[in-house]
Amino acid sequence: MRFVIIGGDAAGMSAASKAKRNDPAIDVIVFEMTQDVSYSACGMPYNIAEPGRDMDDLVVRKAEVFMEKQNIDLRRGHMVTAIDRGAKKVHGKKSDNEPFEVEYDKLLIATGASPRKPDIPGADLPGVLTLKSLEDGRRIKDYMASHPVNKALILGMGYIGLEMAESLTHRNISVHMAKPGPKLLPWTVETLGDMVKDELESKGVTLHFDAQATRIEEISVGYGMKVALSNNEELQCDMIIVGIGIVPNSRMARDAGLELGPSGSIAVDKAMRTSDPDIYAAGDCADAFHVVTGERVWIPLGLRANRAGWAVADHITGEDVEIPGVVGTAVFKVLDLEVARTGLTMKEAEQAGFKPVQNDIKSRSRAHAHPGAERILINMLGDADTGKLLGVHMVGKEGVAHRINAPAVALHAGMTIAEFLQCDTAYAPPFSPVWDPLLIAANELIKKV
Ligand SMILES: Cc1cc2nc3c(=O)[nH]c(=O)nc-3n(C[C@H](O)[C@H](O)[C@H](O)COP(=O)(O)OP(=O)(O)OC[C@H]3O[C@@H](n4cnc5c(N)ncnc54)[C@H](O)[C@@H]3O)c2cc1C
Repeated sequence: MRFVIIGGDAAGMSAASKAKRNDPAIDVIVFEMTQDVSYSACGMPYNIAEPGRDMDDLVVRKAEVFMEKQNIDLRRGHMVTAIDRGAKKVHGKKSDNEPFEVEYDKLLIATGASPRKPDIPGADLPGVLTLKSLEDGRRIKDYMASHPVNKALILGMGYIGLEMAESLTHRNISVHMAKPGPKLLPWTVETLGDMVKDELESKGVTLHFDAQATRIEEISVGYGMKVALSNNEELQCDMIIVGIGIVPNSRMARDAGLELGPSGSIAVDKAMRTSDPDIYAAGDCADAFHVVTGERVWIPLGLRANRAGWAVADHITGEDVEIPGVVGTAVFKVLDLEVARTGLTMKEAEQAGFKPVQNDIKSRSRAHAHPGAERILINMLGDADTGKLLGVHMVGKEGVAHRINAPAVALHAGMTIAEFLQCDTAYAPPFSPVWDPLLIAANELIKKV
């Protein structure tokens, strides 16, 4: 059997490796349009923070290992441009523009997502940079090495923008951030957003709200840019990082007549099959089922990409595998704060037909008398009709990142708040109060359902 994979990062290489492990006789061909495969994009902001670190530190497994040790036919510099479902072929061109075509028995689309760029004058100036691929990371570092960057503007206040704010602050660069909307972390309550805002401002980051970039101009070649914002402010800066979201790379799938899901991602079932049973899609280009709502969602994150790649490999090698989906668990660091979420927001819960109630609590990361305890803010959501736990958002200096995994598991298990409240969580003074902050939140929320 020939298994052809388009895209050689998290989802694609996970599928390639697992397929070969499951059945070494399978002919696995991976087409990757860049020269990079299998790397941790998630580590890029932290790599950029350290000028002396090589971007290639983030490569998880080198191309040679896939080719020589795992016997995977990995073809870098090969961009697939079309899928011919009738002939079961993919067509494409190599980096030297030479065309190629290859037949498949099973095909995986693992093409990821692309960063959005603002459609404004000046967006294509060399100092306006996005961060998605390893090549983007190199480009940012090279730009910083060859230009004096004292002041940077980050467009967008999503998690990549916030991680870059930390990264650039670490390099003693004055950071400004701008977004069109009025709030930081609009998906949660104001108390949590304000804690993150205070952290950013206390470390010198300037935030501009209701401020969409409308025009970028070069002041003089290599000497900074002038940015006009929709709130009539004008900022000067030396570099602009664009972090205004991503779009799934699903155009080829759409052109091949495959069904699309939310936000234009490729629609897949629980075995990652698209609307064509011989074509699978996995990772940032594809959707997933939300375990709490049962609805299709597009939540492009790393674990899902790796897991979905494995599931495809298992499925094509004969296992009757299905993966239930995601609950939207995510965590990121903003300077000295950890920010985490799992499950639904109030708006998502309402849209899904729940009758959501929520509460905010303040607790501490360590026991009452234990030195070094830090504040943890928790927003917990439940359904007034069924008593089900619907979501948790948390911010704090410690004890947040891993604590979110408890409610994530509870959401997978479909627990009610009452059931979650009875969970036997760990306690010792350096790690938690005797009543874990999550149990305190559940105890308060249960009074509302
Ligand atoms: C800065 C940053 C920080 C992140 N931090 C986190 C984090 O902390 N936690 C988390 O869960 N997730 C994080 N993510 C997201 C995570 O990296 C992605 O979810 C994951 O990489 C998705 O893997 P993928 O294989 O689906 O797609 P990608 O990693 O995008 O890989 C797709 C590959 O397909 C190739 N390709 C595309 N089209 C074609 C074509 N036509 N022909 C051939 N090749 C093609 C691309 O070149 C690319 O190599 C972060 C992402 C970024 C950019």
